[in-house]
Amino acid sequence: MIHEIYPKVFFNQYDPSKRPAAEDRVIAFAGREFLCRIEGDQISYPSYSEARAAAPDDAAFIYAFDISGEDYYLCRTPERLSIEGFEYSDISTYGKVFPMDRAYAAIIAFHLNNWYSSERYCGRCGSELVPDGKERAMRCPKCGNLIYPRINPCVIVGVINDGKILCTQYNRPNAGRFALIAGFAEIGESLEECVKREVMEEVGLKVKDLRFYKSEPWGMSSSLLSGFYCRVDGDPEPHPDGVEIAAGRWFSREDLLEIYTPSHVALTSDMITKFMRGEVTEESLFGK
Ligand SMILES: [Zn+2]
Repeated sequence: MIHEIYPKVFFNQYDPSKRPAAEDRVIAFAGREFLCRIEGDQISYPSYSEARAAAPDDAAFIYAFDISGEDYYLCRTPERLSIEGFEYSDISTYGKVFPMDRAYAAIIAFHLNNWYSSERYCGRCGSELVPDGKERAMRCPKCGNLIYPRINPCVIVGVINDGKILCTQYNRPNAGRFALIAGFAEIGESLEECVKREVMEEVGLKVKDLRFYKSEPWGMSSSLLSGFYCRVDGDPEPHPDGVEIAAGRWFSREDLLEIYTPSHVALTSDMITKFMRGEVTEESLFGK
């Protein structure tokens, strides 16, 4: 998955006193695009000295995070930077490039950049926000309101029954391949309740025996994904809601081996792939 960058280590402690050094990495966005160099499937970013020469204002550089001693900064400038050898690419590029730690840097920087772009004015009093100065937060100088980076909790659900896993297809043009049931947690809801509600809403099934699998930070939707496996409680016939979900279908390992191409970045794909390869079974999950 995208955050599995071992032996590299992601270190996100915010340090407001940090200022960029010449060789630090810089990620600059223009909407959904970010500035990078892609050679084959290898991605790299401009250094601070390269970006500073192109950016009009040093205040545009904000410390983002550290990956194994390599510091990353966001460059938050309204202009597109022009740096020889680097071009803007759509953020979806992150899923096709290596090394993984640099691909991961793009998606986390995207999350952070979106947050900074959204949190410019106080939602209570309308004053312009300023960086807090101590934590990764924006502060209202008038009313003291503190706003932390927004992270949306979300569940991914692998429902398993009788040697098969339930996959769904979204009801939208170009919905693409089958995925797992997924959705955002509502206010006042536990992740376990969210799993049950999402499965009921999307395919009309009751589920039981929830087993937490793994979580994954997912900067594309500012989310934190929690993956659960579970099994059907009662009738296994899916009834897709026809609104969000167009189709729901049970796939055996053999079905998947024929049609499914794993992706190395996403929790959904990791969960389907683990089932397809027999590394996750009803026996391993539920002791059946
Ligand atoms: Zn305020």
